Amino acid sequence: MNQNMLDLNAFAEIAPSLPRQYLKYAYNQCMFYKNDDIIDCFLYLERHYLDSLGELYKVFNCPILFCEYYNCPFYHSISDQRRNLYEISYMPKPCYSVYKYGLWDYSYKCPWGNNCHFAHSSYEMKFHPENIGLIKISEEDLKIEERNSMTFNQIALQISEYKEEIRRMAIDIEDKQKILYKVNLEIQELKVLSMCMLCKKEVYDFVLKCGHLCCKKCKETFNGECFGCNQQV
Ligand SMILES: [Zn+2]
Ligand SMILES: [Zn+2]
Ligand SMILES: [Zn+2]
Ligand SMILES: [Zn+2]
Repeated sequence: MNQNMLDLNAFAEIAPSLPRQYLKYAYNQCMFYKNDDIIDCFLYLERHYLDSLGELYKVFNCPILFCEYYNCPFYHSISDQRRNLYEISYMPKPCYSVYKYGLWDYSYKCPWGNNCHFAHSSYEMKFHPENIGLIKISEEDLKIEERNSMTFNQIALQISEYKEEIRRMAIDIEDKQKILYKVNLEIQELKVLSMCMLCKKEVYDFVLKCGHLCCKKCKETFNGECFGCNQQV
């Protein structure tokens, strides 16, 4: 914790445009900055915050250390960065050097770099004036975006739970198949043991006096001599 740190109200005065929640967040994230640096950070936020809610959304680099603020209107990496349309005009269509197989790759893969006239990130598509009229991102829109990404995360979680369940069921089925296989073997063995002595095809119906087994069909042609031991029974 920075011992000489100014309190939150001092920063509210430096950056009056910032909503209270964002101000607090930035203040907590920057707590290890030196006083001069944290003042610079808040001056920068104040200079660009309102513009960033409009046409310059995600055009300025976020100065907050390890920022993960959902509604942060500044960009944090090339994947949420937008080029300033006043500096370079690009169409709300993907650049196919960067957008491949439904995924956005690094924008440096495009030979035109920042001068490319096509979109280099999903943000450049989504927040292009041609797509949303005049760019005007209200706090309400940002909340919807947050909600959507939460729903998306919940769905992703649900899918991974289903996958886990299917995996468990597959293991269970495999175990049961092994048991079934063993039971079948036992049945086979029992069948062999209970076969008729003569034809060795039918399961026995009678036990002869000598203890050997005999089926109904063979009994009809039975002449009194056991086929197993040749004894008269
Ligand atoms: Zn940020
Ligand atoms: Zn390009
Ligand atoms: Zn028989
Ligand atoms: Zn016998």
